[in-house]
Amino acid sequence: MHATPDSTSTPRRAASNPWAALRAALLATAIAVAGSMLGGSAHAGATCTAPGCAGTPYSNMSEIAPIGPRTGKYMDVPESAKGPAIDPTKGYRVQPLGKDLYMVTENVYQAMFLVYDRGVVVVDAPPSIAAFIPKAIAEVTDKPITHLIYSHSHSDHIGGAKSLGARLTIIAHDETKRLLERARDPNRPLPTRTFGDHYTLNVGTQALELSYHGNGHEPGNIFIYAPAQRTLMVVDVVFPGWMPFRRFALAQDIPGFFAQVDEIKSIAFETLVTGHVARTGTKADVELQSQFINDLKAAAGKALQTTKPGEELNPADTGNPWAYFDNYIDRVALQCVNTLTPKWSSKLAAFDVFIWDQCYAMEQSLRIE
Ligand SMILES: [Zn+2]
Repeated sequence: MHATPDSTSTPRRAASNPWAALRAALLATAIAVAGSMLGGSAHAGATCTAPGCAGTPYSNMSEIAPIGPRTGKYMDVPESAKGPAIDPTKGYRVQPLGKDLYMVTENVYQAMFLVYDRGVVVVDAPPSIAAFIPKAIAEVTDKPITHLIYSHSHSDHIGGAKSLGARLTIIAHDETKRLLERARDPNRPLPTRTFGDHYTLNVGTQALELSYHGNGHEPGNIFIYAPAQRTLMVVDVVFPGWMPFRRFALAQDIPGFFAQVDEIKSIAFETLVTGHVARTGTKADVELQSQFINDLKAAAGKALQTTKPGEELNPADTGNPWAYFDNYIDRVALQCVNTLTPKWSSKLAAFDVFIWDQCYAMEQSLRIE
């Protein structure tokens, strides 16, 4: 259970809040520097105006540390975000998804494999778990790996591909092949079979339906659907129980990311494999993430409308347009973080870790995309 704030926990939290301490230290330093520059004793309210030194903290500064300052202790991970424990003697776990489909994970990265009458189809080979994949397969069958599917080109999801063996049929989207040709990474062998919109892999009595729904993460990131198991795998878009990784999981096209979450919602799956985090996902997880990103969009949009550009800017910086934008964008992001924190900080694991990143990415997307 998540601890609820009460009269005894509040003072302890304040005393151990490193950001509050840092703010106080920055302010004290600013006052001291300003005092020494004035050649007299520091006095409350003085502000450091020397180039490079910290100015007065923004009013209503968030309790969540912004990007840069070190955090002493991140918020606890709620139970709802945790998955089954990993046996430390193995380092991974295998989760049956029904009808000879399995997920392999060390509770950070996820790969999948499908057993058919003459072999095994693997989907993705993250370097962090690639060595576990053959062991996981050996727990359920002695059949060989015959096919490897790449969800997308990123090395953190397929950089262990070469270790799974030569002469595999490697299937990916056309764009993934193009990106891998450019990367020239020997650990990510080029696909031997590519497609544009749809491709169905039929092996024995098993099938995987591959399809492309546009740039929701990077070009070429595909949906992998196992119809008999009603399992959908889409990597780096939905994070069950968790805040997405920083800046919408590095989405290259943020409106495309939003559209893809809606696309995932429209598919009749029962189990979602997302490439990350400690457990599989459900429809409810996708709905929760959808609510969160739409709240984020609304909060950033409102902050852009109601924040006054140029306010609180040092008049000496008037001729510096980048400083003008930086000051405005910082105050927009601050309002966005403050708007979302009460509702979402206890609902999504690692809200505090990346909320500043998400607000900065959202305000930028709304301004220019
Ligand atoms: Zn990726």
